[in-house]
Amino acid sequence: MNSSEDGITEDGVTMSGRDGTRRVVVSGLIYDPRVARENVKEGKKGGEFFEGWLETEGGVVVEVGEGKRKGDAEGIVLPLLVNAHTHLADGFIVKEMPLTLFDAVAPPAGLKHRELVYAGEKALVETIKKGLMGFSEEGVGLVADYREGGIRGVEIFKKAEDALSPAHPATNMEALVLGRPETGIPGSTLGGDREEGVAENDVVENAKRILRVADGLGLPETAIYELEDLKKMRAHARGMDRLFSFHWAEEQGEDVGVVEKLRPDFVVHAVHASMDDFEVMQKIRCGVVVCPVMNAFFGETPDAGAMLDAGLDVGLGTDNAMAGSSMFETMRWTYILSRHQARNRRGKRALSPSEVLYMAVLGGRKVLRREKTFPLLASENTAEDAASFVVVRRPSECSEGDAANVVVTRTSTKDVLYVQRGEKIWKNTNVY
Ligand SMILES: [Zn+2]
Repeated sequence: MNSSEDGITEDGVTMSGRDGTRRVVVSGLIYDPRVARENVKEGKKGGEFFEGWLETEGGVVVEVGEGKRKGDAEGIVLPLLVNAHTHLADGFIVKEMPLTLFDAVAPPAGLKHRELVYAGEKALVETIKKGLMGFSEEGVGLVADYREGGIRGVEIFKKAEDALSPAHPATNMEALVLGRPETGIPGSTLGGDREEGVAENDVVENAKRILRVADGLGLPETAIYELEDLKKMRAHARGMDRLFSFHWAEEQGEDVGVVEKLRPDFVVHAVHASMDDFEVMQKIRCGVVVCPVMNAFFGETPDAGAMLDAGLDVGLGTDNAMAGSSMFETMRWTYILSRHQARNRRGKRALSPSEVLYMAVLGGRKVLRREKTFPLLASENTAEDAASFVVVRRPSECSEGDAANVVVTRTSTKDVLYVQRGEKIWKNTNVY
């Protein structure tokens, strides 16, 4: 999505009181992460919402209560969403995607890479900036972006962050940039990573440099690297307390052995993986990010129900910005496709709306190892909780038990009423 498409503009940004003492009351159906977490663990359904309110002061939650109360914003109150896999830089590509994944995104000849090679830095900065703004306005608080183009690609991402208006809530969003080293294969340069003194194909050295400035590595696939180099990259990432991840089993099955050997923090996709593969991944605490909208473009559906049953941490991602999806659209598609898959006996079981919502707010945080560093709404009901939540429209008929279904199946970006991150508040000015 982008901000102008949804009629949401930066004009909607307002700040809370200058002295930081303004009190804001938000009320309605409030998501309780503690209940949601227990439910997913034990396979139970419902009870994760309660009718209540929270009061914030100076950007911190100071009180949480049950029952009805008039609020400055009213609706269904969720922790900020997590978009656990994006490629924001390809948002400027508005051409129709070819029918196969190979023709659409594979380096070096896929549409995406042909376009990226010719894109100037200015266009990339602008499209990444728009992506960050757009996602923050739909209530995303944490994004993990796979950035092409080596260290220069990471620097372009940082420039986009620096270009955000200081008043915009996107500046409070945690945006993780996961870079990738060059391999020296033709067409893999994507904007250039030709650092002085580093051989173009010295992937480990390039990876080390990327790790100094990025939040981790997000490799396009493992097959283009030597196993020994992958192991070294993994070791450097771990030593520097950075994330290590890669796309895996997106279009066809891949040996789980490489996952077992490299122990990534997470893989992206795992569409063509078996229950046995998931069990191996569970043993090594490797999470998964699924991107059902992008997969659907190419006739694929991940079996997220099987992943949850295997005990994996599962997050949701919108994937390529050129596919144009939002987090609400991703939740809706995740749910519909899982039902479709279960009815056609191609998947283990259908997901529930509660499970889909869990993946979008909590699963992604676990996968990205940010469960503790990003405070959750009402997580402990303590005064230290920074206010970080999104309020979406609540139909008058909707009670506690229906809230997850309403969010997953009937909510879109236009239903986002209010987003708060600390002291920064964003209101949808187009509410009728
Ligand atoms: Zn991807």
